[in-house]
Order: sequence, then structure tokens, then C-alpha cells
Amino acid sequence: MCGIVAYIGQRPAKPLLLEGLKRLEYRGYDSAGIAVINGKLNVARSVGRVSMLEEKLEGLKGFEGSLGLCHTRWATHGAVTEHNAHPHRDDRHGIAVVHNGIIENYAALKTWLQERGHVFSSQTDTEVIAMLVSELYEGDLEKAVQAALREVTGAYAIAVVCEKEPDVLVVARKGSPLLVGVGNGEFIVASDAAAIISHTQQAFMLDDYNVVKLTRTEFKTTDIHNTPVTPKVQQLELDLEQIELGSYPHFMLKEIFEQPKSLRACMSGRMDTREGRVVLGGLNTFAKELTRARRVILTAQGTALHAAMIGRYLIEDLAKLPAQTEYASEFRYRNPVIEEGTVVVAVSQSGETADTLAALMEAKERGALALGVINVVGSSIARETDAGVYLRVGPEIGVASTKAFTGQVAVASLIGLFLARRRMMSAGDCADYLRAMETIPEKIEKILEQAPKIKRITEKYVERENWLFLGRGYNYPTALEGALKLKEISYIHAEGMPAAEMKHGPIALINEGMPAVFIANKGRQYEKVMSNIQEVRSRGGHVIAVATEGDEHIAKYVQDVMYIPDIPEPLSPMLAVVPLQLMAYYAAVARGHDVDKPRNLAKSVTVE
Ligand code: GLU
Repeated sequence: MCGIVAYIGQRPAKPLLLEGLKRLEYRGYDSAGIAVINGKLNVARSVGRVSMLEEKLEGLKGFEGSLGLCHTRWATHGAVTEHNAHPHRDDRHGIAVVHNGIIENYAALKTWLQERGHVFSSQTDTEVIAMLVSELYEGDLEKAVQAALREVTGAYAIAVVCEKEPDVLVVARKGSPLLVGVGNGEFIVASDAAAIISHTQQAFMLDDYNVVKLTRTEFKTTDIHNTPVTPKVQQLELDLEQIELGSYPHFMLKEIFEQPKSLRACMSGRMDTREGRVVLGGLNTFAKELTRARRVILTAQGTALHAAMIGRYLIEDLAKLPAQTEYASEFRYRNPVIEEGTVVVAVSQSGETADTLAALMEAKERGALALGVINVVGSSIARETDAGVYLRVGPEIGVASTKAFTGQVAVASLIGLFLARRRMMSAGDCADYLRAMETIPEKIEKILEQAPKIKRITEKYVERENWLFLGRGYNYPTALEGALKLKEISYIHAEGMPAAEMKHGPIALINEGMPAVFIANKGRQYEKVMSNIQEVRSRGGHVIAVATEGDEHIAKYVQDVMYIPDIPEPLSPMLAVVPLQLMAYYAAVARGHDVDKPRNLAKSVTVE
């Protein structure tokens, strides 16, 4: 789930491992640990931040070797304690293991191992791997790992060392990402390219069931049955600047401000405004199936689901194609009906979201054409889909998704227009939409100029513990996203809902001074939204409106207004969400929270 970094080479492993762990801190974690082989196995672990592990290491000797591994844990099995932190070790052979994921059959394996005399010191599923490798160890770590992995079910990315083999690092994967960076006389393994990039641009990604044995100069890849595999070493498409803060105090703020640039990258080359055509290379092979599609099901979780909902409105509205959205976690277990002509679109920033991956597999099995809207190239979902469209918004480090959200909405809009154009939309109408999309980056720049004003507005309400976010039509999902952002990083209770739904119950919550954020830009339902605003005002609520530039009228009815430039309604969520992202950010800062490391959250949720 969280972070793995491992190193074998000529240089001291410890500083390199800790640097890597810090680059993975953004993913959210609760404890950290390190193991270095220096004649013998040395392990240190700590609850809390990587800096606390560093402090602990200051007083410790034995961590000087050039082979080691480390981990940031996001607890799934067993509480957040030092004993449960990784690495987990076995003392018979001096084996240490770090693991991302979940071993599903750990309980049965644990009983079996206990019967064979292994004594466990944690409640984790991971410790079973350490003991199992030890049990099966006959002087060859690679073979023992292969044999152990033949026994386990579940998801894992693991790195393993053994003090009896001081020149060997073994790593493996099933369902959880892991990359091997190939350096000069050294290898850096990590669960995320961010921990590799400052050392080498050359890397290969492990496939499911791959086991890689690394020495200081060579690597050898097999599967768990020892059949040789040839990995493809590739250039990492990532540069350091993308994963460093620069002059920004937080990644979240950096990424909010990056949106004009990230959306330009996302849209570039995909819109032919002269011909009124959307160019999505990834979808070309399936153009015929897509034209004949009878239903589109967009499936996702969290922020990506909100982006999917906007896509759904657009596909229905512009392509006149039945479309629906589904929580991947529900879809998967609901025994869904997949008729002929169904296209399933999985939306996920990381491409590793376990629920979304599982939903996709289910839909594929039932005959759906599977598309992906993913940011991370080569991720699990990207690999499982028949076709897809990458976001191209660059790495998103902030735990609260911002630029990936607007990228997802942009791609969903392009897919909607792609379908619409093939079904009934004229070239001229499509060209109009595309030209409007082209203006989005500069329009977001104009919204970002208002950041100081948005900060002032937010600070007026920041003490309030309950907020409402209301919108209609295309901006109902925007309201959900605004509420989610506020919850995620400022821990304020916020509810998003369709503005009309308020009357059916939630209106009872409104009391004197309760902040209600309305997305009230010009559109088909403007008048209706205005009525909903009045309903809140009459009950003492304070309304903060996101309105269209030039709408002076609204200012008379609300306490505060944040303006966004005019744009055709189907495209307006990409603008309307920006002030809400800024509000969430400023609220969290004002409340003194660590914006990039929100409590309990992890960047990509790879457990179901
Ligand atoms: N399931 C393991 C544990 O709870 C690994 C968690 C992780 O991926 O960080 O320790």
C-alpha cells in the first residue's frame, strides 16, 4: 500500500534509502523502518514520520552497509505500533522483508508456521512472509522467495534480504507496483518512480508474479516457478522538478497552481479545432465498437468518481448515449448486468486503486469493452484495459487530488465529445466545444489570481464545523468534490449534494451562520439555484457562491462571491472546482494541518 525502497550497490545504503523514503512520504503512512546488512542484519523501526526514524538511527551503529531496504507502512493488519512496522525479520537465517499489500491467507500460513516453531512478534500479515521464506530457506534466497510466493495469495510488492547472502537482494510483485532502477554498479528498487529518479532514469517495472534477483552488477528475472522472464528496461518519463516543491509551501498548492499547465499538456494534440474532431490515439483501434456502444458505465472511487459523474452527464447530454456511474466497490459485488455493447470506463489517478481494478476485471469477464482514464503510465489498471487515455498531468504528489481531477474531467469530456461526434454532433458544434476547452487553462489562471480573496473568504468561516456544498446538473459532482476536499485535509464535516435535495432533509441542519457553498454559475438551472440560495438564507445560513464573472445580481443575495469566467456549461466544472480546491487548502492551513500528509489517508488506495 505504501512505500518500499531497497538498494544494492557500492554506496552506503542508509542515506539513499532515507532520501527515497522521504520522496514517498506524500503517499501517506503511519510508521517507517529500515534494514541494512553490514556483516549482520540491522533493523530499526519507528512509529510516525521518517524524521523520527532518522533521529532513532543517529544513535545506532551497524547501518553502514551497501545493501538494505526500507518501508513506510499504512497499516492494514495490526495496529500502528513499532512491532507491526516493517521490516519484519526472522532470526534463524537473518532474513528481513518489507511488503506493500495484503496476504489474504496469512492466518492459515501463520498457524502452520507456528506449529513448526516460528514465534511471531507482530499482528501483521507481512511477518508470515518473513517466516515462510525462512522456513523454506536452503541456502538460496531467490529460491526460498519463489517457493514462499507459490504458497501465498493476495497482493504484494516485497523486497527481501538475508544476512547469509550479503550480495543479494530479491524483490517480487503481484498486484502492487514495484520498479527496479538500473544504475551503474547499483540498483534502486522502489514502489514509486519518485524514489528512483534522482539516481537513474533507466528502470523496468515488474509484472505480476515476477521475482528479481539483484546482485551489485547483475539482475535476473523469473516468475515464481523459476521460468526466466525478460523485462524491458525503459527511460522513466519523470523529472526531478515535477516531484519537488520548488517555491511552494505544499504540493497541494503547487498542483492547484499547475492546473493551467497540466491541462494544456492533457489536451495538447487531442483537439482538432479546424476539423471539429477529437484525436484520441488510444481509442482508435476500438472506434467502431465505441460508435456502436449502447451503454457507458464509468466506475471509480473518491475524487475520480466525481470526475466520472461529470463525464456521465456529458456523454448522456452530448452523445445521447445511456451512461451511468458506479462506485467500483459496489459495482463489483453487485452482480451487475453487462449487456452487449457495454463500455466500462475505469477512472483512477494511480491506476492501482484496488476496487476500481477489481470492478474492471469483473466487467471485462462479462464481456464489456474496458477503457481506462489513468494518470500513471504502465499502472495495473492501464495494463488491464483494452484501450485508454492517459491524463498526462504529471505526477500528483498531494494526497488530496487536484490536477488529476481536472485532468480526469478534461479526458472524460474529450471522450464524451469523441463519442458525440461519431454519433450525432456536427463538426461545427464539436469545434465550438473544443475551442472553448482551449480557453480553460487561461481561465483557470484568472481564477488563481483571486487566491488571496478566496483565502480571506475561507478564513471567515474556518471555525465552523459543518459546511454544505450545493450544485445542480454538471456542477452537482463539483459540489461533491468541494465537500470531499474540505473533509480530506481540514477535517471539517462537509456534505455535498444536489441543491434541490437539500429541502428533502438536510435543510434541518441549517442554523445561524452555517456556511453553504453554492455553485451558481450561469446555466440551465441558474434560477433554480437562486431559489435554493434564498431557502438557505431565510434560515440563517451564510452563502458563498461560485458565480459567473459579470453576474453582479447574485452579490445582493449572498455573503460572498468567488467569480469564474464564462464557459459552456458542460465544461464549467473544470473552472468551478478551482475556487473550492483553494478553499479546502486555505481552511486546512488556517487550522494548522499538514496539508500534504492528511491523517489516515493514503495517496493510492490499493486495498479493497
Ligand atoms: N498488510 C501489511 C501491514 O499491515 C502491509 C501494509 C502496507 O502496504 O503498508 O503491515
